[in-house]
Amino acid sequence: MLYISTRGNYHESQAAEAISLGMVPGGGLFVPESFPQYFPQHIGALSYRELAEAILEKYLSDYTSAELAQMVEAAYYSGNFDRQQAPVVSIEKADIMELWHGPTAAFKDMALQLMPHLLVAAVKKTGGGRDTAILVATSGDTGKAALEGFSDVPGAKIIVFYPVGGVSRVQELQMLTTEGKNTAVVGVFGNFDDCQTAVKRIFADEQMKKRLDNGGYRFSSANSINWGRLLPQIVYYYHGYAQMAAQGKIKAGDKITVVVPTGNFGNILAGYYAKKMGLPIGKLVCASNQNNVLTDAIEKGFYDRRRPFYRTTSPSMDILVSSNFERFVYELLERDGKKCAELYQKLDNDGLFALDENAQKACKEVLWGGWAAENEVAATIGETYQTQGYLLDPHTAVAACVYNKYLAATGDDNPCLIVSTASPYKFPAAVLQALGQTPVADAALHAEQLAAFVGGKVHRALDGVAKKPILHGRQSEVQNLPALVAEILAV
Ligand SMILES: *Cc1c(COP(=O)(O)O)cnc(C)c1O
Repeated sequence: MLYISTRGNYHESQAAEAISLGMVPGGGLFVPESFPQYFPQHIGALSYRELAEAILEKYLSDYTSAELAQMVEAAYYSGNFDRQQAPVVSIEKADIMELWHGPTAAFKDMALQLMPHLLVAAVKKTGGGRDTAILVATSGDTGKAALEGFSDVPGAKIIVFYPVGGVSRVQELQMLTTEGKNTAVVGVFGNFDDCQTAVKRIFADEQMKKRLDNGGYRFSSANSINWGRLLPQIVYYYHGYAQMAAQGKIKAGDKITVVVPTGNFGNILAGYYAKKMGLPIGKLVCASNQNNVLTDAIEKGFYDRRRPFYRTTSPSMDILVSSNFERFVYELLERDGKKCAELYQKLDNDGLFALDENAQKACKEVLWGGWAAENEVAATIGETYQTQGYLLDPHTAVAACVYNKYLAATGDDNPCLIVSTASPYKFPAAVLQALGQTPVADAALHAEQLAAFVGGKVHRALDGVAKKPILHGRQSEVQNLPALVAEILAV
């Protein structure tokens, strides 16, 4: 399988090159040249391991089967995950796929436990003999998941940037207590988009690249724009479907609706890719919070980032520029890289772009977009707990709320899979408030307070985070980030 750029500005590349580069050097994202077809009729009998190996092999033809099997083993079967990697549980109207049974209690573990293995091998394969410097902009969860994934991986250094005040205290503590000699965490005075833009600029900066070269490094990204991040996510859509089949809720071949709480558009894009590969997914419901730029884009056909930025109780979805949407737009444009480049140039220059009529129609065929206001999110958490005894985190509650709106608007009666992206204990203050409780003054104790209130158990990743020593303390203005990166890498 070869990879091409969404902007038609790069040669066809092997997977290892796409993964080690992270993004296309001149701007643009790597996408597979085609979508291999895969839908085993006996899907309900297949394990996570079997699905992962089968899917990875189709896309990573420059890796050996033995390599991939070993990586799958290390990522999902060596004790980092609970016995069930991604259990599917039922509530009244839908099934919920819990993607937060990994080491950081957020769905990003599903990709970030595997991705470092793919990346280190990619850098080896592409020669160069350089170490990899990973830069990550995070709105909260990616940061810790990436730090855990890369911690003490030989040949890699990782620097994570997060917006000061833009992540929950628990998320911040998780990052600041990270061990691993090759990890650094930097608080940035700005919002997530500022962090992401700064990282993109550093990647594109020729002078920085030279300094890195001389220092024996190559930049790469663990953000969800890296193909090595995206690919592992396709697997769990198959796994979710397989679980529903195994539990007798569907027969192999039945169409399901999938609802995804969306921020950077990586998760839902993987669902779309699964659909392109032949997994019977009907509509993909794109659920947003008050930062509803995608809802508007789907409904009205133009992407307009010129709008206020809101901080919500689902901070990992507080995003105005959903980087991975570009890969989706590329498909909507029937893979016209020139057109795609024009649209994204326009987004850069003017803050918006419009889809033509065909693309708009194609978009609506795949996606249904909706958003949930903060009071609706809280009400959904409260109601779901009271009526079903099931605790939703605020991100998953956005999805559940939007699914209700989708049902009311369309009357769709396909079985539904809601993708759950975080443990409720990762956002305990918002959940406590939604349940009518007043969180105690010390934010570090909220998870225990929530556990005591519902008679549950704090996710192991969050247990005792307040008592761990703080190991990182850097904070910076946006414009100083390039210098800081050079300092941390000593180049
Ligand atoms: C990252 C994240 C999201 C958004 O996922 P994208 O792939 O960026 O759309 C949703 N919920 C949680 C808890 C997350 O960490």
